Amino acid sequence: MISAIAPAKINLAFYSGPRRPDGYHEVVSVYQALDLFEKVSVETALEWIVEVTGATLAESARIPTDKTNLVVKAALALAEHAGILNPQPMRLVIEKRVPAAAGVAGGSADAAASLLALNRAWGLDLSRDELSVIASKVGADVPFSLLGGTALGVGIGTELFPLAPFPESYVLLIFSTPGLATADVFSEFDRLLPHGDMKDASQVTQQYETAPASIVGINSLERAAFSLRADLAGIASRVPGQRAYLSGSGPTLYLLSQDRLEIETWAREFSSLGQETLITKTSLAGAELKN
Ligand code: ATP
Repeated sequence: MISAIAPAKINLAFYSGPRRPDGYHEVVSVYQALDLFEKVSVETALEWIVEVTGATLAESARIPTDKTNLVVKAALALAEHAGILNPQPMRLVIEKRVPAAAGVAGGSADAAASLLALNRAWGLDLSRDELSVIASKVGADVPFSLLGGTALGVGIGTELFPLAPFPESYVLLIFSTPGLATADVFSEFDRLLPHGDMKDASQVTQQYETAPASIVGINSLERAAFSLRADLAGIASRVPGQRAYLSGSGPTLYLLSQDRLEIETWAREFSSLGQETLITKTSLAGAELKN
């Protein structure tokens, strides 16, 4: 089998404009890759097969194993781009480490890893730039999962500009259920903030370059996510004096620190309150082939 890994992400900052007539939103996003990778392995098969390993029972119920899975969508987009009319059916095995519909782009990472593995399996030899164009057709966060590191995302989040790496930090992820579908959070955002909540991309970049930590935690979708999941605001402020931030459309919250002991203390605090947590780190890596 040919395998590839791709990172999950958090949004250090996320601004969104109003809903466009085509239904999309312009965003300004500072993406940060995590040292937390999804793995997708592929091999030829008689029909399309998607297998998910590692997901808990509750999560796997949310993850489709038919052609609506992002790994198959990525495969079909790749075939279309390469002019393959009848793509070779494949067995795609996803090793899932992050929950679905969590706002940390686990599904997008699956799609990015699928693109990279199939590019090799089908002998296409497409460049990273070409794969990124295909990725943008699969989902807004897929190009970033290919690229990794720290990057500014504009347009619908698919036009990427690498930024100087965020100072290496430990990241505490605070998961919770039920998950939030990105589309539902944007609909609530449209209702609450019909004029959007945008900021100029060059201003955000300048602020990041001057003081990277100063942008952390700004998220236009927070009000909408907290409106749909009333318990989230309470969870976010459980550590006195240290608010946890929403990643993407949530519901995953995160805390950053360069001090591992501090992160472990916070993790214990959230765990004692029944919250599922995971300690990871910021990462410079993007998607790569891995056997
Ligand atoms: P993530 O990308 O981590 O799943 P997200 O917050 O971006 O998080 P959504 O945009 O809401 O999530 O999409 C999650 C939904 O996508 C899931 O509920 C599931 O139905 C569908 N999906 C399709 N393929 C996958 C996959 N490989 N992994 C996870 N979800 C997937």
